[in-house]
Amino acid sequence: MRPEILFPLFRPVTTLSGVGPRVGALIEKLCGGGRLIDLLFHLPTGIVDRRYAPRIAEAEAGRVATLSVTVGDHQKPRNRRQPYKIEVTDGSGSLSLVFFHARDDYLAKVLPEGETRVVSGVVERYGDALQMTHPDHIVPVAERDRLLRAEPVYPMTQGLSPKTFGRAVLAALEAAPELPDWLDPAVAAREAWPAWRAAMAALHHPETSMDVSPDAPARRRAAYDELLANQLALALVRRDMRKVAGRAVTGDGRIMDRVTAALPFALTSSQTRAVDEIVRDMTAPERMLRLLQGDVGSGKTLVALLAMARAVEAGAQAAMMAPTEILARQHFATLEPLAKSAGLSITLLTGREKGKTRDAVLAGLAEGTTDLVVGTHALFTDDVAFKDLALAVVDEQHRFGVHQRLAISAKGRKCDVLVMTATPIPRTLMLTAYGDMEASRLTEKPPGRAPVDTRALPADRLAEVVDGLGRALDKGAKAYWVCPLVEESEKLDVAAAEDRFAHLKQVFGERVGLIHGRLKASEKDAVMEAFADGPLQVLVATTVIEVGVDVPDATVMVIEHVERFGLAQLHQLRGRIGRGDKPWTCLLLYSPPLSENARARLNILRETDDGFRIAEEDLKLRGAGELLGTRQSGLPIFKLADLAHHGELLAMARDDAALILNRDAALTSARGQALRVLLYLFERDAAARTLRSG
Ligand code: ADP
Ligand code: MG
Repeated sequence: MRPEILFPLFRPVTTLSGVGPRVGALIEKLCGGGRLIDLLFHLPTGIVDRRYAPRIAEAEAGRVATLSVTVGDHQKPRNRRQPYKIEVTDGSGSLSLVFFHARDDYLAKVLPEGETRVVSGVVERYGDALQMTHPDHIVPVAERDRLLRAEPVYPMTQGLSPKTFGRAVLAALEAAPELPDWLDPAVAAREAWPAWRAAMAALHHPETSMDVSPDAPARRRAAYDELLANQLALALVRRDMRKVAGRAVTGDGRIMDRVTAALPFALTSSQTRAVDEIVRDMTAPERMLRLLQGDVGSGKTLVALLAMARAVEAGAQAAMMAPTEILARQHFATLEPLAKSAGLSITLLTGREKGKTRDAVLAGLAEGTTDLVVGTHALFTDDVAFKDLALAVVDEQHRFGVHQRLAISAKGRKCDVLVMTATPIPRTLMLTAYGDMEASRLTEKPPGRAPVDTRALPADRLAEVVDGLGRALDKGAKAYWVCPLVEESEKLDVAAAEDRFAHLKQVFGERVGLIHGRLKASEKDAVMEAFADGPLQVLVATTVIEVGVDVPDATVMVIEHVERFGLAQLHQLRGRIGRGDKPWTCLLLYSPPLSENARARLNILRETDDGFRIAEEDLKLRGAGELLGTRQSGLPIFKLADLAHHGELLAMARDDAALILNRDAALTSARGQALRVLLYLFERDAAARTLRSG
């Protein structure tokens, strides 16, 4: 349970004075959460220095200045297009305040003629005259000092005024408690890091632009806190999984041999190495927790099947869990014939197996008559019991979730866990997502793949693309047409896809289908089937196709608004085609003008098909924050740490976490207690809970 000392930080922002439901909702949208802590973790990215307070005559054009002035004449506009002007003076000179579309009564109220006011904004020269258009602040003289400072600039959202937001942040800082320090005192001293609350205050009261840089001491401390919480949580979860003694899962290779014999091809050397590593882990008495990394199409499923066969050789069962229904069905379709030819019984369990079918599946698993099961998260509902589950394979594609891994492995008391991911994650990110988990990487593609032809085109050549597609369709080609992510709204995504669908349908008629995340599972399956084996030749899709879906004879992919996707994500999408031996084409449509950075990213994609290299480049060019389309990826999103800058802090945090658990395994010392607070501060509740049972 969350320690009481943190309660004030997890209060809703609407409990702050001046924050009502409307502002509360905007803050929630902006900060990704509506609690004080979310507000505090939303850091300024720049400053506006309002300390420059010259007399009007000396004011430099182009600079932000804070001026104390006497309000003069109001010149009201004669028509809507003209601005409202107010003359102000300070004895040294005069300046016009300029307002477009202003309300007269408002201006009369805030700038009454003859009174003294303090205004702050950018001074501009207009011919010989000085002016200030829409001052950022207009305050009475009494508030001058409050204004004369470096003002933090926050990333903002529409409808929320920086002033309102700034006030809310100050109120949240006020309410923030001092927290016991979880840092190693020697480290804190060496780095000259402030205490937690002081660091938060410093971050929101920057004095210079240095103070908002990733290298500022307060920022580095905040980043370190976040990374330490991440690394400690991973270490705890891992320890918890390992606590259950493992068992040696051994076999004579008989069933594995039958599987390989049933294959129409030989394993690649990457696959052989991965299988060896996995078998070695399974044979060892400790529990296996291994990651199998490889691009879509690199042959992970087969490696997993061989591991599953090993579990059966040992007289036990194995399960494979997929993130979506489509994918579970697809895995099942791939595995079933191979499993059967090796004499293994295999079954499917998703949310759609109901009633008698489901009862039969459950009975088979409980009695042990079923060797292998493929399914979705339906696999770990409470009534699913195994006779003896020795291996759980979790296919995460590119979603990650420690929770799911824990839940599935709880089904088999000593169950080994193999996590498959199609995301070639850079090493730095591996560490944040998995801690020190062992990994096998499939770096080679199976032989016989046709070469890549990836081209980037401006979106105004759409008509040409459609023509070219028509020619390919007439020759029997199948194509994906991927519509972009529109902001973060799934609804808009769907609308964009529906529009494109309607357009292509006009051109190509009944050969065009549509799939998106809002369709029911049964509808998705029907569309996919019609694309894989039926009359559909063009599948318009939102990014749902990213997860799963295997149509080996699809050879064309068009992706719209590529500039909105991450490189790794584009690579994933592209991996959906070119799976057979036919040449294939991937057309990347962008909206010009393309930034330097975006151009560099597209070039990498054209140059290479190596997912690991693409991922590294993406991290360099975009930073971890934007990698992989973050939110969908389920990779930890850091609010305070920026891995492009704080990579060395991550390594420090990893070592620190290991050392802590070595010295104070149950976190009972004073520092240990403080570290528990840290875990809850960053909402690593599940990891913190493992301490109780320990
Ligand atoms: P992943 O799970 O990594 O996406 P799959 O296991 O689904 O990849 O393999 C993709 C395709 O490649 C499948 O059609 C599979 O039969 C084929 N394949 C796998 N391994 C090999 C190999 N060693 N040689 C030739 N084809 C292979
Ligand atoms: Mg696969």
